[in-house]
Amino acid sequence: MSLIENIIRPDVLALSAYHVPDSDGFVKLDAMENPYLLPEPLRMELGRRLADVAMNRYPVPSYAKLKADICAGLGVPAGYDVVLGNGSDELIAMLSTACAKPGAKVLAPLPTFVMYAMSARFSGLEFVGVPLNAAPGAEFTLDKQAMLAAIAEHRPVITYLAYPNNPTGTLFDADAIVEIIRAVGDSGLVVVDEAYQPFSPTSFMSRLPEFGNLVVMRTLSKLGLAGIRLGYMSGPAALLQEIDKVRPPYNINVLTQAAAEFALAHLDVFDAQAASLRTERSRMTALLAALPGVQVFPSAANFLLLRIHTSNKNGSAVFNDLLQRKVMVKNVGKMHPLLENCLRVTVSTPEENALFLDALKASLSAAD
Ligand SMILES: *Cc1c(COP(=O)(O)O)cnc(C)c1O
Repeated sequence: MSLIENIIRPDVLALSAYHVPDSDGFVKLDAMENPYLLPEPLRMELGRRLADVAMNRYPVPSYAKLKADICAGLGVPAGYDVVLGNGSDELIAMLSTACAKPGAKVLAPLPTFVMYAMSARFSGLEFVGVPLNAAPGAEFTLDKQAMLAAIAEHRPVITYLAYPNNPTGTLFDADAIVEIIRAVGDSGLVVVDEAYQPFSPTSFMSRLPEFGNLVVMRTLSKLGLAGIRLGYMSGPAALLQEIDKVRPPYNINVLTQAAAEFALAHLDVFDAQAASLRTERSRMTALLAALPGVQVFPSAANFLLLRIHTSNKNGSAVFNDLLQRKVMVKNVGKMHPLLENCLRVTVSTPEENALFLDALKASLSAAD
């Protein structure tokens, strides 16, 4: 056996690396990024703040000010604290590590955010996926009965519900989520992942006090700070204390800390950007729905899921045509059977949205 085979786990050997395509020169609509920067004066002021950061020092690992700013600015209920992660990806990894008892299982509806299953497997947890509804008109809604049956059968230690869901954009029924939280009860956590909260009309954050097993997870990424990598989650104090034990002590670096504190003092700017993206989402939904051969699904996030159903082109052909025209979206058609011929497109500025729409129309009308 070679060195690699001697040391690397077989399940890791079998994985393919998470592929992020090179987007240089493309209209980038594949990763749910906020297209807007901060206004110039604020960027200058941020530069001065960052210049004053003591980069020679380790961060103070309690992160008291940043946590207090998050709790005060982002609607964390009184008496509740947060745990911070280097992106919510790291929070998901911390949950997996802390809950990976032998034989334990993680459950989520499918299709959903791929990191839940990947992180579970990395920690040796079994992942159980429950397909979302497929019936026309109810597509991508929660199959509540199937979820409750799977919970009774598998007693998962963690159940993830992305609210709204990625890659479908669906805002699951809040009453169904409540039933799921109660059905899981003391045997597991339910993590409501609100990565798209800035674009969603509802949240479970204010409802934390109603449940002893609910964790609400969020990130600053989709709000416009994907590059600084900062996620946070709140839940019962005793539970957060245990999860925090597996957090790498200096996981939030001093530059991220300073940039986030600055951003939280200017939340109004980010809120205004999110509001224009929500307006664009409505406008784009209507324009796309009017295109023959395109089905657009309702979205409470900053992206739209489309299904291509024309006689001459499938989703992958349209995806390739868009690439030819220097527009990069995400081809999710192979992710799950329910997503056949589906593309996921970030909602962006009116200019970038127009470029996408033109490229899509050109692709659909070209007869090849
Ligand atoms: C984008 C996304 C995240 C990841 O957020 P980071 O904080 O950038 O790691 C988490 N959950 C869902 C559902 C997402 O779509």
